[in-house]
Amino acid sequence: MPRWSRQVLFGDIDAMFASAAVVKDPSLAGQPIAVGGPPPRGIIAAASYAVREFGVRSAMPTAEALRLCPQLRLIPPDRPLYRRLHDDMRAVTGRLFPATEWSSIDEFYVDTTDLQTRYPDPAVLARLVKQSIRDATGLTCTVAVATGKTVAKIAADASKPDGLAVVEPQLEAAFLFPQPLRALPGIGPKTAARLEPFGIRTIGGLLDPQWDRILVRLFGARLPWIRALAQGQDHEPVVADRESKSASHETTFEHDTADRAFLEELLRGFLRALARDLRQEDLAAGGCTVKLKDARFAMTTRQRRFAHPLNYDPEMWPTVQQALHEVMKPHTAYRLAGLALSPLVPAPPGLYDQRRSKAVQAMDAIIARHGAVIGLGGVADEDHE
Ligand SMILES: [Mg+2]
Repeated sequence: MPRWSRQVLFGDIDAMFASAAVVKDPSLAGQPIAVGGPPPRGIIAAASYAVREFGVRSAMPTAEALRLCPQLRLIPPDRPLYRRLHDDMRAVTGRLFPATEWSSIDEFYVDTTDLQTRYPDPAVLARLVKQSIRDATGLTCTVAVATGKTVAKIAADASKPDGLAVVEPQLEAAFLFPQPLRALPGIGPKTAARLEPFGIRTIGGLLDPQWDRILVRLFGARLPWIRALAQGQDHEPVVADRESKSASHETTFEHDTADRAFLEELLRGFLRALARDLRQEDLAAGGCTVKLKDARFAMTTRQRRFAHPLNYDPEMWPTVQQALHEVMKPHTAYRLAGLALSPLVPAPPGLYDQRRSKAVQAMDAIIARHGAVIGLGGVADEDHE
């Protein structure tokens, strides 16, 4: 199998908000549900595939959706649920990939060029991503792999729901040719409406020289760029978003808990992931903040500074643990726990000795590749403190 000079994987949860409602209440599976506000002023935020058959679409007024599909069950939006599922998805991509660009709450890009040695067949990697997200969240994700972001996105849109698409190098233009015009970024409904009377309905139509004059008039100086995109030439880089690199993480629990061991284990996991991000960015943290929200939604935080900036989690843990013990109140159940590391500073040289540094780097590389959480045998092992 030929090596791809560039490989981008795109993932998009199918009908995210509607699917999230089913995750929360499995009895809604297959039901004609949509998430949105009530009529007369409400708007549909997400339509399940069961109601899409009736023509119900997101951004449609709820009143109209109910006319099209009178048996439609309207579900109110549940932002904390979406947030939790998003965090769970981030945990999955954080485990599988060194860097992920989340372009929205349920869509992400990963540059997988360097993963080809481990996954020579991109379909195998795509299946792993789908399965991992499904296992972690119960949500189905359509995944597409291509040489650029645009083709990957269009391929995913064309393969929904629960799809898996691979557009091989050199086949981008052939894949795009029959796709609807509107699938191409930069072609909005107005532009499409102006092209359709000429019979230009597909992306391939944009390449036909007989329409040069019309296309030049419509796109002007943008035409060469549009035509390059229409052939799948797209060099836009995947840029890991800040949030995945931000040094904070929190989660809301299914059930409120007062279990200290559970909270310790949770924060320990957050710290491990955050410290790894810091090391990859060559950053260190000057301190930590532990945040707990109790069952009555009251928030308490405790801040602690490290003796000096750190990015090796076993050295940071005693301080984080102490902050957790200080912030926990007796006989109190919590619904949310979070950990933030700040301020972030460039990692001072010689933060840990050469031997440990090499071992930590090797561990990070293994974690990035295998998603396994492993300790450092023989080197200040975190599990033997
Ligand atoms: Mg989606």
